[in-house]
Amino acid sequence: MKIIMLGAPGAGKGTQAKMIAEKYGIPHVSTGDIFRANIKNGTELGMEAKKYMDQGLLVPDELTVKILLDRVAQEDCGKGYVLDGFPRTIPQAEVLEEALNKLGEKIDFAVNVDVPDENIVRRMSGRRACLKCGATYHVEHIPPKKEDVCDTCGSELVLRDDDKPETVSNRLKVYHEQTQPLIDFYTARGILKTVDGTLDMKDVFASITDILG
Ligand code: ADP
Ligand code: AMP
Repeated sequence: MKIIMLGAPGAGKGTQAKMIAEKYGIPHVSTGDIFRANIKNGTELGMEAKKYMDQGLLVPDELTVKILLDRVAQEDCGKGYVLDGFPRTIPQAEVLEEALNKLGEKIDFAVNVDVPDENIVRRMSGRRACLKCGATYHVEHIPPKKEDVCDTCGSELVLRDDDKPETVSNRLKVYHEQTQPLIDFYTARGILKTVDGTLDMKDVFASITDILG
């Protein structure tokens, strides 16, 4: 099963993608996590991506597409995957579609996690991320057992640089301009499914599993 998660930054795509990955036994592929791991390891790709990420801008398609196509060509993606944060532009969606067409494959579902802008800034200023294992928490809604410590791996939790309020409003603007058009793109292909992302995370997950079966 191949699934795409759509939604504004902070809508809960990553939170749901991890739960989907676990339930259906497929990898969770997040381009944002791949970029952050590269930044942490000081790679050339990481340094290039950081220039854009810190401003709330998208990393150019040329860089992003290659990384994603390499990742989904790996063996563990053979049975499917859940993409979180990709595609984010129409050209990215077109390249993915073309690459899958060549293999005689297709995306099964594009799940749109719908959360109004008003809720987003609050969500993101409360998000705490583990840069080591990729786990995310929320200081009010989904707190770690011990403040600022990852439940999964014990590393320190941080407020991501791009979750600071001044960057969040820019990311929302970029979302509306460049990513929201994907809703029409996948509606036209008959695979768009929208869920109410303002609900409790368990209820959002229940709506998603109703769709995925
Ligand atoms: P995205 O991957 O779409 O950027 P995340 O999954 O990281 O978003 O979620 C953003 C923030 O909101 C995180 O702090 C997360 O813990 C929290 N969150 C996720 N889902 C919910 C929910 N249903 N209700 C409240 N908070 C949520
Ligand atoms: P995320 O973790 O999905 O919120 O992504 C964090 C940041 O990484 C984004 O704000 C972008 O700067 C960059 N990024 C992640 N995925 C993509 C993508 N598909 N296209 C372009 N930039 C991306």
